[in-house]
Amino acid sequence: MAKSPLDSNPLAVLDNIRVVLVNTAHPGNIGGAARALKNMGLSQLYLVAPREFPAANAVWRAAGAADLLDSAVVVETLEEAVADCGLVVATSARERRIPWPLLTPRQCGARAVAEAATHPVALVFGREDRGLTNEELQACNFHVHIPANPEYSSLNLATAVQVLAYEVRVAALEAEKGEALNYADWDRPPAKAGDMELYFEHLQQALGELGFIDPENPRQTMTRLRRLFSRVRPDDMELGILRGWLTAIQNYIYGTGGKGRPE
Ligand code: SAH
Repeated sequence: MAKSPLDSNPLAVLDNIRVVLVNTAHPGNIGGAARALKNMGLSQLYLVAPREFPAANAVWRAAGAADLLDSAVVVETLEEAVADCGLVVATSARERRIPWPLLTPRQCGARAVAEAATHPVALVFGREDRGLTNEELQACNFHVHIPANPEYSSLNLATAVQVLAYEVRVAALEAEKGEALNYADWDRPPAKAGDMELYFEHLQQALGELGFIDPENPRQTMTRLRRLFSRVRPDDMELGILRGWLTAIQNYIYGTGGKGRPE
């Protein structure tokens, strides 16, 4: 892959790592997260449908980081917040039923910094009362769990942001000294999260038409396929091949000699 202009300033990668807060209930936590980010040299805050924002309480908790609240990007869905990202990591206070590829906070910092040299990276945080939904967790490449006291493992939202932001900063400082992982020497960028979503829709549709999954009840199989492709992390060209292959299968099913679905 071509050398990135970021190579000359390892700390510049921090601007390519965004923190996404999903459906935050308490604006104080948004302010606390903004402060945690700015302390660690991060700047990109995305808010998915915050329950109360802008809010005086957020500004108060942000203290000297209120500028990050002004520049925060507010969107309606997680999908919009991460559509252009090549790596999406979800945080979770609990183990889930279907295990997903896991990173420790330290591995998360190193990977985020290594990948942010070439593409945007998102770290996703859940709701104060119930975290992220299974669907949201399954929209991410990796999960990260802060190994807290198993008898009381749920950190305050802004505190969890602080822990991961710190790991990212430490990894960026290591990279500055030339001690970090380099992003794998690959000829293509990873597929973007938004394109992966389009692929999963296409896959579900084609597998339904093929009679391989019950279109009324695709859940478990689609979840396993999602996990498989999230783990593989196809590059953009590989994803294009997978889409083309699905289209060819559909053309065969429609029996129209490659002219698409019959009217
Ligand atoms: N009761 C919720 C806890 C949510 S805490 C649950 O059981 O899921 C709010 C958010 O803070 C979580 O969604 C996650 O983003 C982050 N968080 C809290 N504790 C964490 C931990 N130990 N590891 C990783 N993220 C954590």
